[in-house]
Amino acid sequence: MRTMVKAAVAAVVVAVMAAVPVMAAEQKAAPAKTDRPGGTMVEATSFTATVDAIDSKKSLAEAIAHLSLTLGDGAMYGAGILPDPRDNTQYTIAFLGVPLPMAARENYLSPDMAKVREAYRTMVVKYHLIAGIPPAEAESRADTILAIESRVAAKQLTPEQARDPSLRLKPMSYAELKALVSNFDLDTFYQAMGLPVGHDVYVLDDGNVRERNAILADLPLSDIKVMLQWGLLLGAEPYLTPAFVEPTMEFNRVLYGNIDTPKREKLVAESIKRKLGHPLGRLYVDKYLTPKSKADAESLIAQIRAEFRLRLSNSAWLSAPTRAYAVEKLDKIDIKVGYPDQWIDYSGVDIRRDDYYGNMLRLAEFDTRRNLAKFGKPVSEDGFADPRATLPTVVNAAYSTGRNGIEIPAAFLQPPFYTPNADAAVNFCTLGAVIGHEITHGFDSSGRLYDAQGNVRDWWAPADTQAFVERSKNLVRQAEEFEVVPGTHLNGQLSSGENLADLGGLTLAYDALGKHLKAHPQENLEIDGLTPQQRCFAAWAQNWADKKQPGMLKQEALTDGHPPGIYRMFAPAQSVPGFYETYGIKAGDKMWLAPQDRVSIW
Ligand SMILES: [Zn+2]
Repeated sequence: MRTMVKAAVAAVVVAVMAAVPVMAAEQKAAPAKTDRPGGTMVEATSFTATVDAIDSKKSLAEAIAHLSLTLGDGAMYGAGILPDPRDNTQYTIAFLGVPLPMAARENYLSPDMAKVREAYRTMVVKYHLIAGIPPAEAESRADTILAIESRVAAKQLTPEQARDPSLRLKPMSYAELKALVSNFDLDTFYQAMGLPVGHDVYVLDDGNVRERNAILADLPLSDIKVMLQWGLLLGAEPYLTPAFVEPTMEFNRVLYGNIDTPKREKLVAESIKRKLGHPLGRLYVDKYLTPKSKADAESLIAQIRAEFRLRLSNSAWLSAPTRAYAVEKLDKIDIKVGYPDQWIDYSGVDIRRDDYYGNMLRLAEFDTRRNLAKFGKPVSEDGFADPRATLPTVVNAAYSTGRNGIEIPAAFLQPPFYTPNADAAVNFCTLGAVIGHEITHGFDSSGRLYDAQGNVRDWWAPADTQAFVERSKNLVRQAEEFEVVPGTHLNGQLSSGENLADLGGLTLAYDALGKHLKAHPQENLEIDGLTPQQRCFAAWAQNWADKKQPGMLKQEALTDGHPPGIYRMFAPAQSVPGFYETYGIKAGDKMWLAPQDRVSIW
């Protein structure tokens, strides 16, 4: 679903998922009813005609492969190339069932969300009417679509299960995959996609894949075609007539709250950022990334990493072998600041001034074919780990578990996360804390399951794992006690990685600031009546100042590991000893947490 532009901050990049291009929700496309000029009319008509012509298992598999190749999106099923999660020197194949338009499973299944489902159904009907489908047919299609999507929602992984790489990506032989999708002509799909039949594969969310296979057996082909046409329509609507905008916004308002309709030019500008992120990022970097900000970030990285190394070396609860390997993993984290080593060259894509939707299709096909062409070649890092989450123009930073690497895009190096010429306390506890946050992700409940090379491998002694889980319990419990909006609490397991990363980031930044002030005593001054330590916590809090509708907060609590800013602002501070010293907080004060309730891991 096209959501509002939101400032996703410091998200973890799950590289293996990001590397599958069909995961990008905007890479979809194409109903016939369009008045666009150029080749688009022909292309769009051919997509719907392809679906209409399906009359056998073989033609279904061929059509899905055709739509996947040319639209860049899986239609029901999809496949892409990614570095092998257990040996990331080799590329392998990922197979998946396409993600659902409404991300949160509760939207499909929970009795509380009946209004959301009703609004979604209304939107589905309106889209079909705009596309020229007669009213009765539009109503019946909407029922079919909602029934199919609800079945998949009930069987796909929950977001907290998806944090576990052994559940998210299951290695299978080709024969095992064939058995899993027994009602689908896999050989034909592979051949049409140009993938090697018989090769081992990783299945992304096998619950989704299995349920779609059951749907193929249970429903008539006409219903399967309705589902495929819906995928085409949903993918195309952002690039077609503005008539689609209001039905979308009516749904978004039920889901999120009272939000304004974004201006057309803003939506189009956003799509340029997403679809031509590298060429645009290059222009951005030339204009806005200064040598000073890059050098400041690199200096902070060195200081925060040194602080983490010291804490790991002194960590009393880890056994010596686990501790030694943790230091090795820390030292191997590869951190890129600003932009990728190599830019993706889009110069071969035909971009026309008068063909918005056609441009989107050609870019999607370029991205898909570029991904598929990687198979059999050495793994190369030609972009940031997630080509969309960490584009140079995105205000975000990310850790990639599959690469053991961190990316800090150029656009992140601006206030509030980095302020040129601000005093040290501010930049340590904003940019420095985010660097510490990302480094800590390599050692959180999910990141710790990957080794120093970024491969899925358990390098922990069993007693250390047990101690980690024990030490995380307060973190999980405290999150679950926090009510995001009335009736919805934080999901402790889902948010545990982010909460641990925030605690790590703030702890490392505060301690590194202390060392900096010792080395530069002339900077140990009050400014505006605040000590450097007080400015540190104030700057950290200002990082997370944001304003969101209650519905948005609820959707994020259901699907996203990132807690709301209001929680991130105070929760980690309550486990940092310096917070109590800085403000003289005592038992009985509102921010006081009893020592046994504080979290101490890294
Ligand atoms: Zn994070």
